[in-house]
Amino acid sequence: MIKKATFLISNTDHTKCPSPDKPEFAFIGRSNVGKSSLINMLANNKNLAKTSGRPGKTQLINHFLVDEKWYMVDLPGYGFAKVSKSIKADWEGMIQSYLSNRENLVALFVLIDSRLEPQKIDLEFITWCGENGIPIVLVFTKADKQSWPKTQSSIAKFIKASKAIFEEAPLYFVTSAENAKGKEELTGFIETQVEE
Ligand code: GDP
Repeated sequence: MIKKATFLISNTDHTKCPSPDKPEFAFIGRSNVGKSSLINMLANNKNLAKTSGRPGKTQLINHFLVDEKWYMVDLPGYGFAKVSKSIKADWEGMIQSYLSNRENLVALFVLIDSRLEPQKIDLEFITWCGENGIPIVLVFTKADKQSWPKTQSSIAKFIKASKAIFEEAPLYFVTSAENAKGKEELTGFIETQVEE
């Protein structure tokens, strides 16, 4: 259970991020996947992460300090249909260098909409993570939105697709910001990693 999360700094450059003196956990996903809602639910603060950005808005790496023990990072979402090639290239450059160079990164939570068939853009992103040794954990969001058997079936398809990328199926959580499903499991996982 997170007691206190405070905003520290926003950056476009990983070299200007807080010094890597604490374990770090970052969140990323297609825009509108529910990332801000998930972060706010985990942090017990409805206003911590700003919900739903607009295409083309400034893309930033946002650092939060949690319980004085670990960094939570809200990364800009991918997959806006309408952004220009130069914004896409900026996003890729910033995110890829952050992920490849951030030495204290313990896990990158990649959020996937639990209602959807595996999406090309998500599979492409996790393929890049696999090729670059980024420690990902999958988070299937919005699990309240459809019947559980349907949710299970779309999750199973995504896990199957991700097995083709990683040797073993990645660890995953199933969450809902609507009814707090998965909240304790996910924070519990982070806390175990922080304690180690
Ligand atoms: P972001 O762009 O990834 O940060 O997504 P947001 O957190 O802003 O959420 C996008 C939309 O999905 C908003 O309308 C949210 O209210 C909705 N949403 C997010 N998480 C959930 C969830 O777990 N359940 C339901 N039913 N809606 C959600």
